Amino acid sequence: MISAFLGLGSNLQSPRAQLQRCIDTLAQLPGTQLMAVSPFYGSAAIGPGTQPDYVNAVAQIETALAPQDLLTALQQIEQEQGRERGPERWLPRTLDLDILLYGDQVVNLPHLHIPHPRMHERNFVLLPLFDLAPDLALPDGQPVRQLLQRCSRDGIWLLEDTHTGER
Ligand code: ATP
Ligand code: CA
Ligand code: CA
Repeated sequence: MISAFLGLGSNLQSPRAQLQRCIDTLAQLPGTQLMAVSPFYGSAAIGPGTQPDYVNAVAQIETALAPQDLLTALQQIEQEQGRERGPERWLPRTLDLDILLYGDQVVNLPHLHIPHPRMHERNFVLLPLFDLAPDLALPDGQPVRQLLQRCSRDGIWLLEDTHTGER
Protein backbone atom coordinates (compact mmCIF):
# COMPACT_ATOMS: atom_id res chain seq x y z
CA MET A 1 0.00 0.00 0.00
CA ILE A 2 1.20 3.47 -0.88
CA SER A 3 0.30 6.59 1.06
CA ALA A 4 -1.10 9.20 -1.32
CA PHE A 5 -2.45 12.71 -0.88
CA LEU A 6 -5.35 13.99 -2.95
CA GLY A 7 -6.42 17.59 -3.53
CA LEU A 8 -10.20 18.13 -3.42
CA GLY A 9 -11.90 21.23 -4.77
CA SER A 10 -15.38 22.44 -5.70
CA ASN A 11 -16.93 25.79 -6.58
CA LEU A 12 -20.32 24.80 -7.96
CA GLN A 13 -23.58 23.37 -6.61
CA SER A 14 -23.04 23.29 -2.83
CA PRO A 15 -19.27 22.86 -2.72
CA ARG A 16 -19.14 21.61 0.88
CA ALA A 17 -21.71 18.91 0.13
CA GLN A 18 -19.79 17.98 -3.03
CA LEU A 19 -16.62 17.47 -0.98
CA GLN A 20 -18.44 15.48 1.68
CA ARG A 21 -20.00 13.21 -0.94
CA CYS A 22 -16.63 12.71 -2.59
CA ILE A 23 -15.05 11.81 0.77
CA ASP A 24 -17.76 9.18 1.33
CA THR A 25 -17.00 7.75 -2.12
CA LEU A 26 -13.24 7.75 -1.52
CA ALA A 27 -13.86 5.70 1.63
CA GLN A 28 -15.44 3.01 -0.61
CA LEU A 29 -12.75 2.95 -3.29
CA PRO A 30 -11.47 -0.58 -4.07
CA GLY A 31 -8.00 -1.43 -2.77
CA THR A 32 -7.95 1.82 -0.85
CA GLN A 33 -8.31 3.04 2.71
CA LEU A 34 -9.20 6.60 3.60
CA MET A 35 -6.81 7.61 6.37
CA ALA A 36 -7.53 11.28 7.08
CA VAL A 37 -9.26 14.37 5.74
CA SER A 38 -8.04 17.90 6.40
CA PRO A 39 -10.27 20.73 7.57
CA PHE A 40 -12.12 22.47 4.74
CA TYR A 41 -10.84 25.83 3.48
CA GLY A 42 -12.54 28.50 1.45
CA SER A 43 -10.46 30.05 -1.31
CA ALA A 44 -10.87 32.68 -3.98
CA ALA A 45 -10.94 31.17 -7.48
CA ILE A 46 -7.86 31.74 -9.63
CA GLY A 47 -9.47 30.74 -12.92
CA PRO A 48 -10.57 32.97 -15.81
CA GLY A 49 -13.26 35.61 -15.17
CA THR A 50 -15.29 36.00 -11.98
CA GLN A 51 -16.01 32.66 -10.36
CA PRO A 52 -17.58 31.50 -7.11
CA ASP A 53 -15.19 30.81 -4.22
CA TYR A 54 -13.82 27.31 -3.83
CA VAL A 55 -14.01 24.87 -0.98
CA ASN A 56 -10.75 22.92 -0.77
CA ALA A 57 -9.41 20.06 1.31
CA VAL A 58 -6.76 17.35 1.18
CA ALA A 59 -7.40 13.65 1.79
CA GLN A 60 -4.82 11.04 2.70
CA ILE A 61 -5.37 7.52 1.42
CA GLU A 62 -3.46 4.28 1.46
CA THR A 63 -3.94 2.53 -1.83
CA ALA A 64 -2.95 -0.54 -3.80
CA LEU A 65 -4.04 1.16 -7.05
CA ALA A 66 -1.29 2.12 -9.49
CA PRO A 67 -1.08 5.87 -10.17
CA GLN A 68 -2.82 5.64 -13.56
CA ASP A 69 -5.61 3.46 -12.11
CA LEU A 70 -6.03 5.90 -9.23
CA LEU A 71 -6.36 8.79 -11.70
CA THR A 72 -8.99 6.86 -13.67
CA ALA A 73 -10.93 6.15 -10.45
CA LEU A 74 -10.78 9.82 -9.43
CA GLN A 75 -11.94 10.98 -12.85
CA GLN A 76 -14.88 8.58 -12.57
CA ILE A 77 -15.84 10.14 -9.23
CA GLU A 78 -15.62 13.60 -10.84
CA GLN A 79 -17.92 12.38 -13.63
CA GLU A 80 -20.42 10.88 -11.19
CA GLN A 81 -20.60 14.23 -9.44
CA GLY A 82 -21.42 16.04 -12.66
CA ARG A 83 -18.01 17.40 -13.64
CA GLU A 84 -18.20 18.83 -17.11
CA ARG A 85 -14.96 18.97 -19.04
CA GLY A 86 -14.70 21.77 -21.53
CA PRO A 87 -11.80 22.74 -23.76
CA GLU A 88 -10.57 25.27 -21.19
CA ARG A 89 -8.87 24.60 -17.85
CA TRP A 90 -9.73 26.18 -14.54
CA LEU A 91 -13.42 26.70 -15.23
CA PRO A 92 -15.92 26.42 -12.35
CA ARG A 93 -16.57 22.79 -11.45
CA THR A 94 -18.61 20.60 -9.15
CA LEU A 95 -15.56 18.54 -8.26
CA ASP A 96 -11.84 18.53 -9.00
CA LEU A 97 -9.67 15.69 -7.72
CA ASP A 98 -5.91 15.92 -8.17
CA ILE A 99 -3.26 13.44 -7.16
CA LEU A 100 -0.79 15.59 -5.22
CA LEU A 101 1.63 12.95 -3.99
CA TYR A 102 1.92 9.19 -4.42
CA GLY A 103 4.38 7.98 -1.83
CA ASP A 104 7.72 9.44 -2.82
CA GLN A 105 7.29 8.42 -6.45
CA VAL A 106 7.84 10.79 -9.34
CA VAL A 107 5.52 10.10 -12.28
CA ASN A 108 5.80 11.83 -15.63
CA LEU A 109 3.33 10.34 -18.09
CA PRO A 110 1.64 12.38 -20.83
CA HIS A 111 -1.56 12.65 -18.75
CA LEU A 112 -0.21 12.30 -15.25
CA HIS A 113 2.42 14.29 -13.41
CA ILE A 114 3.20 13.53 -9.75
CA PRO A 115 3.96 15.46 -7.60
CA HIS A 116 1.22 17.73 -8.94
CA PRO A 117 3.23 20.34 -10.86
CA ARG A 118 1.47 23.39 -9.39
CA MET A 119 1.08 22.31 -5.76
CA HIS A 120 4.23 24.19 -4.63
CA GLU A 121 2.65 27.58 -5.18
CA ARG A 122 -0.93 26.90 -4.03
CA ASN A 123 -1.89 27.85 -0.50
CA PHE A 124 -5.19 25.97 -0.87
CA VAL A 125 -3.15 22.78 -1.34
CA LEU A 126 -0.26 23.44 1.05
CA LEU A 127 -2.32 24.58 4.07
CA PRO A 128 -4.58 21.50 4.28
CA LEU A 129 -1.64 19.23 3.39
CA PHE A 130 0.36 20.74 6.23
CA ASP A 131 -2.60 20.18 8.58
CA LEU A 132 -2.44 16.44 7.82
CA ALA A 133 1.32 15.98 7.53
CA PRO A 134 3.34 18.84 9.03
CA ASP A 135 6.63 16.95 8.68
CA LEU A 136 6.12 15.76 5.12
CA ALA A 137 8.67 16.46 2.41
CA LEU A 138 8.24 16.22 -1.36
CA PRO A 139 10.19 13.55 -3.28
CA ASP A 140 12.88 16.16 -4.04
CA GLY A 141 13.33 16.77 -0.31
CA GLN A 142 11.51 20.12 -0.05
CA PRO A 143 9.60 20.25 3.25
CA VAL A 144 5.92 21.19 2.94
CA ARG A 145 6.51 23.49 5.91
CA GLN A 146 9.06 25.48 3.91
CA LEU A 147 6.88 25.68 0.79
CA LEU A 148 4.05 26.98 2.94
CA GLN A 149 6.26 29.66 4.50
CA ARG A 150 7.04 30.98 1.01
CA CYS A 151 3.41 30.98 -0.04
CA SER A 152 1.00 33.91 0.29
CA ARG A 153 -1.91 33.60 2.75
CA ASP A 154 -4.11 35.81 0.60
CA GLY A 155 -7.48 34.55 -0.59
CA ILE A 156 -7.78 31.61 1.77
CA TRP A 157 -9.74 31.12 4.97
CA LEU A 158 -10.53 28.21 7.30
CA LEU A 159 -14.14 27.04 7.28
CA GLU A 160 -14.31 26.40 11.02
CA ASP A 161 -17.55 24.47 11.12
CA THR A 162 -16.63 21.85 8.55
CA HIS A 163 -13.77 20.10 10.28
CA THR A 164 -14.11 16.44 9.41
CA GLY A 165 -11.14 15.33 11.49
CA GLU A 166 -9.17 12.10 11.49
CA ARG A 167 -10.95 9.01 10.30
P1 ATP B 1 -4.56 22.01 -12.37
O1 ATP B 1 -3.95 20.73 -12.90
O2 ATP B 1 -3.75 23.23 -12.62
O3 ATP B 1 -4.98 21.90 -10.94
P2 ATP B 1 -7.20 21.39 -13.27
O4 ATP B 1 -7.25 20.50 -12.07
O5 ATP B 1 -8.33 22.32 -13.47
O6 ATP B 1 -5.85 22.24 -13.26
P3 ATP B 1 -8.07 19.43 -15.06
O7 ATP B 1 -8.85 19.97 -16.19
O8 ATP B 1 -8.84 18.85 -13.90
O9 ATP B 1 -7.05 20.52 -14.56
O10 ATP B 1 -7.11 18.27 -15.54
C1 ATP B 1 -6.43 18.34 -16.74
C2 ATP B 1 -5.58 17.09 -16.89
O11 ATP B 1 -4.52 17.06 -15.96
C3 ATP B 1 -6.29 15.77 -16.63
O12 ATP B 1 -6.95 15.32 -17.76
C4 ATP B 1 -5.17 14.83 -16.20
O13 ATP B 1 -4.86 13.91 -17.22
C5 ATP B 1 -3.99 15.76 -16.01
N1 ATP B 1 -3.17 15.51 -14.83
C6 ATP B 1 -1.81 15.52 -14.84
N2 ATP B 1 -1.30 15.29 -13.63
C7 ATP B 1 -2.36 15.11 -12.79
C8 ATP B 1 -2.46 14.82 -11.39
N3 ATP B 1 -1.36 14.69 -10.62
N4 ATP B 1 -3.70 14.69 -10.86
C9 ATP B 1 -4.80 14.85 -11.64
N5 ATP B 1 -4.77 15.12 -12.97
C10 ATP B 1 -3.55 15.26 -13.55
CA1 CA C 1 -6.75 21.11 -9.86
CA1 CA D 1 -7.76 18.25 -11.91
